[in-house]
Amino acid sequence: MGQILVLDQNMVNMIAAGEVIERPASVVKELMENSIDSGATKITVSIEDGGRRLISVTDNGCGMDGEDLARAFEPHTTSKIKTSSDLQGISTLGFRGEALASIASVSQVKCTSRTKGQTGANCIEIDCGTKSGISPSSADYGTTIQVRDIFYKLPARRKFLRTANTEMGHIAEQFTRIALANAPAGNKQGLDMTLIHNGRELYRLSDKDFLHQRIAELSPIPSSGISENLIEAESNETSLHILALMGKPSISRTSKKFQYIFLNGRFIRDKFISHAIKEAYRGLLEPNRFPVVFLFIRMPYEDYDVNVHPTKSEVRFYNANLVHSQILAILREKLLCTDLQTHAVLPTATGSPEMQGIPAPGHRSQAISEAMAEFFKKHRPVQTQQRFSYKPKQQIVALRPSSEQIPESHMGPAAAGVLTETSRPAPVIHLEQRKFIQIHDSFIVVQTDEGFVIIDQHALHERIIYEDLCKRIRKSKLESQKLLIPESFDVTVSDADVLKTNAELLEKLGIELVPFGPRAMAIQAFPTLLAKADPLDFVQDLIDLLGRKDINLDGEGLLDEVLNMAACKAAIKAGQRLTDSEIEQLLRDKVNAESASRCPHGRPTTIKFSISDLEKQFKRT
Ligand code: ADP
Ligand code: MG
Repeated sequence: MGQILVLDQNMVNMIAAGEVIERPASVVKELMENSIDSGATKITVSIEDGGRRLISVTDNGCGMDGEDLARAFEPHTTSKIKTSSDLQGISTLGFRGEALASIASVSQVKCTSRTKGQTGANCIEIDCGTKSGISPSSADYGTTIQVRDIFYKLPARRKFLRTANTEMGHIAEQFTRIALANAPAGNKQGLDMTLIHNGRELYRLSDKDFLHQRIAELSPIPSSGISENLIEAESNETSLHILALMGKPSISRTSKKFQYIFLNGRFIRDKFISHAIKEAYRGLLEPNRFPVVFLFIRMPYEDYDVNVHPTKSEVRFYNANLVHSQILAILREKLLCTDLQTHAVLPTATGSPEMQGIPAPGHRSQAISEAMAEFFKKHRPVQTQQRFSYKPKQQIVALRPSSEQIPESHMGPAAAGVLTETSRPAPVIHLEQRKFIQIHDSFIVVQTDEGFVIIDQHALHERIIYEDLCKRIRKSKLESQKLLIPESFDVTVSDADVLKTNAELLEKLGIELVPFGPRAMAIQAFPTLLAKADPLDFVQDLIDLLGRKDINLDGEGLLDEVLNMAACKAAIKAGQRLTDSEIEQLLRDKVNAESASRCPHGRPTTIKFSISDLEKQFKRT
């Protein structure tokens, strides 16, 4: 006797529900999307017990008449597509016709709806797939769907629900995505949205709140001026409109969670776009940090397929390369022409030790602030009175005009201040007046129009070399010079293998290696640009880097790693005393560098101090 049975429709729905309805937040997403598709301008979401007890969504959209209400909860019923050709350009959020049927198969649902043409509303109740008839009800036009006791007949799934707080977190995230996608823009009306949990209003967003306000209201990023920390870029190419709000490096995060990508009003995840974002911030962020980005893409519905995944959060672009390259270009260009220099803001009170604990707005700023405070603490004169003496220090090498010189000791309170990023134009550096000093053989203090900047000599030089390397290697291979005496080194079998696999890369770098006995190689030529690096040390570290199994990089990523390493090795070190002309050269190169404010690892190279802040600090204003 055959073993195979045809499952009944309710079982089919329950199984399908597993794909679409993972947790209460999935219900919220599907119901809110239906409300948006219905043309609603106002949506109220009310939740009890993290959605475990109740999820209720009310809208003022087009509503459903009795006939549609009875049909809406059947599987594969939709008003959004009619023929297969409609699948080629889906303009609505829904189209699969399975959400309501899935939700109703795993919970108790009550739906009340009324169209504008009806005098009264209708109501239907479904208990885990068992439907009541349609009964008259009273309600304003629009639709209310109440979902109670999700998964109550499926203990295995109910067990997987987390605490009310956790589930509410997921719901708030879905609400946030929809709210960001539906802020008013230009002449497009925004959506009035409310989220209530256990009777308490969590969010009340007016249809007049523009995107920046919504971001400030919804974003879990420390609200200390999130808007000031966003850089806006927009491009309106034919068939691809991009609006990007990019977080400055100082508000980067440890995960990609704060990368919101919207395609025609739909929140999506996309590996091409994520990659483009990552590339755009290359060199501006430390590894393991992720930028905050809000990206809004508009393109013809026909240019991508949304019928890829049941939750529709993934799409397939027909021309993914174009999308990738355009996004990368606009983000990168904007980031590179923005001054991301770290700007030191002085504390309001004089630099008391407690001020050193002021939290900076971003992780990195805080780290810099701490490091600077630590640095200046170490080098601060013992006597406090001395801190305000104008006596120039004897050991300063490149001593500049005495009357305007800023005593090093004045940096104590400044260093303890809060560091933020600014987008003011880069300060003009007065080379001709030679107003700079090198301090502790590691930092260069330079007077600017606005005040002064402190440059980390190693970080800046590293950046300059890195950019130079990138430019040259893009054009052709690096220029190299023959070593007078080839330097030999031992290689293991796996080293030799690594060198063989990466022969092309070595060639591009201008490194020439020749066999030198059975288990040794010799460096015959080495890149001119890396003249300051020790060839042997460089090649050995290069073999280590190329042989590392844990870094799974593509060609370009690997090359970038190598160039980072090269720049670091060839750059002036901290603790290295520089001559005036070396400093002048460095400052001249800084002006020409594309992104001189960050070293290739994303650390700042320069910190700005404004004279007006100093004046305030000394109570001169
Ligand atoms: P889909 O959204 O994929 O069409 P659903 O199961 O989510 O499938 O909804 C089925 C149908 O019910 C929709 O196509 C729509 O016609 C109707 N519907 C659902 N929610 C609403 C609502 N809030 N207002 C008006 N009509 C709705
Ligand atoms: Mg739907």
